[in-house]
Amino acid sequence: MKRANVILLLTVFLIACKVGYSGTIAPPYEVGNWPGFRTAAVSYTFDDDCSNQLAIAVPMFNEFGYKLTLFTVTSWGPNWTGLQNAANQGHEIASHTVTHPSLGGLTIAQQTTELADSQSVINSHITGQQCITLAYPNCVPSDQTLTAQYYIAARHCQGYIEANTPSNFYQISSLICGNQGSVLTAADFNAKFVSTAASKGWCVYLIHGIDSDGGYSPLPSATLRASLRYLDARRNTFWVSTFANVVRYIRERNDVSVTELSNSGDSITLQVTDTLDNAIYNYPVTIRRPLPAGWGSANVSQNGLPVTSSIVVVNSTAYVMFDVVPDGGNVVLSKGIYGDFTGNGVVEMNDLSVFFEFWPVNDCNKTTGVDADEDCIVNFNEFAILAQNWRQAP
Ligand SMILES: [Zn+2]
Repeated sequence: MKRANVILLLTVFLIACKVGYSGTIAPPYEVGNWPGFRTAAVSYTFDDDCSNQLAIAVPMFNEFGYKLTLFTVTSWGPNWTGLQNAANQGHEIASHTVTHPSLGGLTIAQQTTELADSQSVINSHITGQQCITLAYPNCVPSDQTLTAQYYIAARHCQGYIEANTPSNFYQISSLICGNQGSVLTAADFNAKFVSTAASKGWCVYLIHGIDSDGGYSPLPSATLRASLRYLDARRNTFWVSTFANVVRYIRERNDVSVTELSNSGDSITLQVTDTLDNAIYNYPVTIRRPLPAGWGSANVSQNGLPVTSSIVVVNSTAYVMFDVVPDGGNVVLSKGIYGDFTGNGVVEMNDLSVFFEFWPVNDCNKTTGVDADEDCIVNFNEFAILAQNWRQAP
């Protein structure tokens, strides 16, 4: 084989390997398995447009600030106004086909109509989001190659908790809730949450009826609320989001590359990119790095605009943690005011409690970001600087 052919073949092989696999994360940067480096993900999905989904579930989720997914059947006269209101509040409106058939029993032409028409009808009624996911009616999958032409993922109902990275995005497992399913009581929900956290995976619930709205396998709204209260009390452990956003996050975190372009000591510029379609994969991923030596805090911006960031302490190391969109422009970390450990631009009570986690640490490896005079001890010297900066903006 000619040398040029060998190189070509190698290149093709390397590109092929890259698809679906990890990008390059230059140390000391790390990407969170889930947003905010939480332990596990949870999605609540609702099928068949049962009336209490809009009447009860959406307002309940809004109370907690959580987002859900409504899989709608487009020929069943969905409440488009109600669905648009839910979409405006950040909930996902996705496809449960046009007529709710068992897709696997249909011809490819019939399946195409069900997949394509439901998607275009939803996109014509619902603005401000895209219909990009599908739930198989009656738990019968459609042709996968065809499905992949229209959707980034599809929900099945195998009854297990999904892995951190599902083996097949067109066979995402869900757990059926209510009196016909495996999750009926608050204790059932809690047991699933414990398992999901233990496996660091993704739990997808499938809900139909709520209370007595006539829907299949009804779930009491009080039980639904109890499950949200459980999660609300563990916000640092569980990420609750829509089906599509969880898929976005997984694909992005597995594909993202983080490269340091420059580092002046007081300012670091990063490039955060991925190989995915930016029109769909636009969810922020969480990245962190240890706070550079001598930095009391950090401000983070992307494309010139401030982004969500904070200083977190893990195993006695202070990190700057931030959410940025891959391919959303360069990310700049800059040294912040000493004492602003939470990174909100001002030194106040929350910073004081972080400070006292380090009081009085006497170990060079455990004082990064807090040891202002770099003598390896957090003591009254640092407290004096913090007091001086109290309530001062940088
Ligand atoms: Zn259904």
